[in-house]
Amino acid sequence: MAKLIDGKKISQEIKDELKEKVVALKAEGKTGALAVIQVGEDPASSVYVRNKKNACAYIGIESLAYELPESTTEEELLKLIEELNEKEKVRGILVQLPLPSHICEDKVIQAISPEKDVDGFHPQSVGAMTIGEKSFLSCTPSGIIQLLKRSGVEIEGKHCVVIGRSNIVGKPMALLMLRENATVTIAHSRTKNLPELCKQADILIVAIGKPRFIGAEYVKEGAVVIDVGIHRDENNKLCGDVKFDEVEPIASAITPVPGGVGPMTIAMLMSNCVQSIEEKRR
Ligand code: NAP
Repeated sequence: MAKLIDGKKISQEIKDELKEKVVALKAEGKTGALAVIQVGEDPASSVYVRNKKNACAYIGIESLAYELPESTTEEELLKLIEELNEKEKVRGILVQLPLPSHICEDKVIQAISPEKDVDGFHPQSVGAMTIGEKSFLSCTPSGIIQLLKRSGVEIEGKHCVVIGRSNIVGKPMALLMLRENATVTIAHSRTKNLPELCKQADILIVAIGKPRFIGAEYVKEGAVVIDVGIHRDENNKLCGDVKFDEVEPIASAITPVPGGVGPMTIAMLMSNCVQSIEEKRR
């Protein structure tokens, strides 16, 4: 039976550490706010935005909500970002994705000042991460590194297979594992013999975006399995990219869905906000 990697507990530990840090920063006169922008009323996005505001309140930083109508133009959104870039009090700017199709996401991401890019999506942040310089790290992958480290999983020298090469999960995940001295293989939709390749992994990180896709035939006995996927199944129940019931008996450790990777993303967003407040030049 695999050890359950408890993202709920670990994310709570991180938020509690951040809460203490925020108190200490306030005592030094360092404060700041996170600006959260939502365009339209996508219900899933509304839930994410609400959770982010609640997390800010929990750790003791201010959040500024910008709820814009679906009809907002790209120009209007870019203008708001420009204003927020200039506002001293705003230390982080988060634009909830996806955006309506008439707005170019890349343009919006690039408009955010890298100093306030707490999602870690700006090309400058990604570039800095790639060459090992200090930057805001993309929240889901950096949350996974924390999950592994705080669960006592050794990364150095291990073979890690990351399934998925998206800009927000797969690619930064592979780079961060490389930074931790894992030997990394990235798999994607054109990869040949995926089950065979995955079976070589000591650490298998699954971000394939397909509900319950990865079964026992992909997993080596004793591997650590991280399931990044979030889906609602036919019964409206949350599930991941991994067939949990099939894989759990083979793995040595596994993240559940819900309660694994999901809560870590917000905790790491908060960590980036606190880092931004801390690094504020006076
Ligand atoms: P994505 O952009 O859809 O990327 C999926 C990746 O999987 C792509 O690189 C794709 O390859 C690859 N892929 C698809 N089918 C495959 C196949 N049959 N064999 C091998 N590779 C295959 O998804 P994403 O944004 O990275 O997200 C992945 C999952 O994580 C989703 O379920 C998402 O909801 C979840 N997620 C969770 C969190 C969280 O906080 N927990 C955050 C972000 C995302 P190609 O590049 O070749 O198309």
